[in-house]
Amino acid sequence: MSRGEERGEERGDEREARSPLQPSDRVTSVPPSGIRRFFELAEEMDDVISLGVGEPDFSAPWAAREAAIASLEQGRTSYTANRGTRELREEIAAHVTKYGQEYDPDEEILVTAGASEAIDAAFRALVNPGDTVAIAEPAYVSYEPGVRFAGGDPLSVPTRAEDEFVLTPEVLYEHGADEADLLVYCYPNNPTGATMDREEITAVAEFCIENDVGVLADEIYAALTYSGDHASIATVDGMRERTVVFNGFSKAYAMTGLRLGYAMAPAEVIKAMNRVHQYTMLSAPTTAQYAAVEALRSCDDEVAEMRRQYDRRRNFVLSRFEEMGIDCFEATGAFYVFPESPWPDAGEFAEALLQEEGVAVVPGDAFGAGGAGHLRASYATGLGELREAMARIERFVD
Ligand code: PMP
Repeated sequence: MSRGEERGEERGDEREARSPLQPSDRVTSVPPSGIRRFFELAEEMDDVISLGVGEPDFSAPWAAREAAIASLEQGRTSYTANRGTRELREEIAAHVTKYGQEYDPDEEILVTAGASEAIDAAFRALVNPGDTVAIAEPAYVSYEPGVRFAGGDPLSVPTRAEDEFVLTPEVLYEHGADEADLLVYCYPNNPTGATMDREEITAVAEFCIENDVGVLADEIYAALTYSGDHASIATVDGMRERTVVFNGFSKAYAMTGLRLGYAMAPAEVIKAMNRVHQYTMLSAPTTAQYAAVEALRSCDDEVAEMRRQYDRRRNFVLSRFEEMGIDCFEATGAFYVFPESPWPDAGEFAEALLQEEGVAVVPGDAFGAGGAGHLRASYATGLGELREAMARIERFVD
């Protein structure tokens, strides 16, 4: 038999064994989200109160919904410009000045399908194969897969409970982030609820400048801060040119299902991200863009009211954990608290709590290093349900 025939036979064998539609190694190297498993368990049960979800229990402000409806009535169902409508980019540029951010609506803002798309586009636009991306953990679950899908190497930088999960130059150095190309983090933080003040952000900025690290700052919870103003690293001297900021409408405006977010960065970065976006998404959802313009123009009062309600719930949940003797640092942002697990294994605790009392929380290690031994509980749930959930947790712990 000739070698060619031999190779042909080998290929034939392989073909039989392997479907041509095998998931790629890149995809199979990423495990499914640890959060999903709990949702699946919870879905099979009755009478479950979920403190597991990361989305508002409110509906989007009515004026925003009405603007979406009006746009549909007017037949505005076409694509928009790749970068989003100019009207929306102008509103975003005006809106973010409240955080001290200044971005040119023509060149420095990209409207995306949720902050999720912005994050993915940034990784794909900025990461070369083998680049290292430091991730401040515990972290939102999509960063590590996003880095891997882009061919980069994630580097875990666990923040510490004793620092109240604030990112510090010490932990960045300790975990070798001075060698990283990029750093991605989120404050106000999902899952811990931690926020960083100006001084703390400035210390991280100095680290990034000294070690020439670029920053991807996920600020999707910026509007949900309960003590002091949101501090953006992009506004620290020398950082604007090395920072991509992500924000969106899902959290502050309760618009998760409308899938709208945005990225802000220097023109060259937005241009590169738009290259990814124009081929993968073309443009963000049109109807949602009309809703978003109205949300930014006229819904400050509704946002303030939702924030007040989250704050009440936050205080309630924190005080109940304290009464139960469960250690929980004072989360000051987003809509999560991150108490210590009463049992050493938070996964076992969460599973038993779900099965015995029907309360779903997520074990902290689902969010990467630094989260072990903690639980994430979301208070994006009405006070009545929160009361019942906390009573059940108390009964279970007792
Ligand atoms: N970043 C963080 C930290 C989040 O919690 C979420 C949503 N859970 C997102 C990004 C994605 O938001 P969007 O709905 O805008 O894609």
